[in-house]
Amino acid sequence: MTYRCPNCGYVYDEAKGEPHEGFKPGTPWKLIPDDWACPGCAVRDKVDFEPEGDAA
Ligand SMILES: [Zn+2]
Repeated sequence: MTYRCPNCGYVYDEAKGEPHEGFKPGTPWKLIPDDWACPGCAVRDKVDFEPEGDAA
């Protein structure tokens, strides 16, 4: 699954994680803290992200 920031378009991909934020590849969205701020714009939080889904 991927989740997209509605503000800046940053996409969190569970398969890739976000190593710069301390989330290893494969980190599921549910393990991301609710108060995690978007690394792209730092304006939106996790709760603002929109699920995109994927074929897998
Ligand atoms: Zn953003």
